[in-house]
Amino acid sequence: MKNKTNIISKIKSRLTNDSKKEWPGLINAYKDFLPINDSTPIVSLKEGNTPLIRAKSLEKHIGRGVKIYLKYDGLNPTGSFKDRGMTMAISKAKEEGSKAVICASTGNTSASAAAYAKRAGMKAFVLIPDGYVAQGKLAQALVYGAEVLAINGNFDKALEMVQSIAEDYPITLVNSVNPYRLQGQKTAAFEIIDELGEAPEWLCIPVGNGGNITAYWMGFNEYFNQKKTKKLPKMMGFQALGSAPLVFNKLVKNPETIATAIRIGNPVNWKKAVEAKQNSLGSFEAVTESEIIEAYKLIGEEGIFCEPASAASVAGLIKIQKNLSDNSKVVCVLTGNGLKDPDCAINNNDAVFHTKLDPDLNKISKLMGF
Ligand SMILES: *Cc1c(COP(=O)(O)O)cnc(C)c1O
Repeated sequence: MKNKTNIISKIKSRLTNDSKKEWPGLINAYKDFLPINDSTPIVSLKEGNTPLIRAKSLEKHIGRGVKIYLKYDGLNPTGSFKDRGMTMAISKAKEEGSKAVICASTGNTSASAAAYAKRAGMKAFVLIPDGYVAQGKLAQALVYGAEVLAINGNFDKALEMVQSIAEDYPITLVNSVNPYRLQGQKTAAFEIIDELGEAPEWLCIPVGNGGNITAYWMGFNEYFNQKKTKKLPKMMGFQALGSAPLVFNKLVKNPETIATAIRIGNPVNWKKAVEAKQNSLGSFEAVTESEIIEAYKLIGEEGIFCEPASAASVAGLIKIQKNLSDNSKVVCVLTGNGLKDPDCAINNNDAVFHTKLDPDLNKISKLMGF
């Protein structure tokens, strides 16, 4: 009897605690692992703590008892993992007294920089490749009040320009060359281990500039050194075939892909990404446009909407599936939200979509198969 009361009171206290406990944002949650101090003004939109979702229909597709989890980082405040890095980069820029930030972007960095800069009371300038930024991302940068500079050139050119501007003028660069970005982003690896109790055997991740794969590897290693996991994953980085400099170890002058977030020919974290791959015994692989779209639809079948660049992680998993041992655990990172790129969604789906219908009950119910 006493035991029973005990259990009930434990459950009760857990319920009340859990319902009261609000996620404090990733800087507060992982303070001890991040380069901040008591005087760092924390600029946060409560980013992080994104769900790790079991992918049941993908598991059926792959078979052999392989467990597949999707780290849905598209559920961050501005819809991509960039928020993990931006909360750190903007907090540190504010601490250092910076009044303005700048970035080059394929879209998500600009959306995130704009939002966090606005919260910090700072000005944000974003350089984007004109015509190659998904609608949702551009809309965000504008609404969050960034000054948008669209250039006739690709991301690599834009990055070259902002690096030079940040050298010459009093403005903080918040691309992933900014070390605080990777510090914030490594917390995604912490969350995975906190939830699974250990690292997965494999991590599948899309690679553009190579910042995120570097950050995950850093995070897994820090937890490994703290004995919070006994194993480390193989880091599997996937690039689109038309913009795969790391796969072919060769700069790409005119990168092309539907996955605009990874349309990058000269990754700024090239060396670090290669180290993460080598030290983890992982690999870089290219996925085709149709493999990306196929994966994008399969993810949709899980009830999850990601952007095409994110689908590269699942496309890659499908490509390398024969390398997975039976019953192993895989985490695929879904880096961005599908709502970012509605054009891609409208043009690439297998849905039944009847248009221009008469509002006639009989006709419509017949069409529905009744
Ligand atoms: C930025 C981004 C990537 C690429 O990440 P890197 O750190 O540049 O390798 C992949 N997917 C999405 C949705 C992104 O926004």
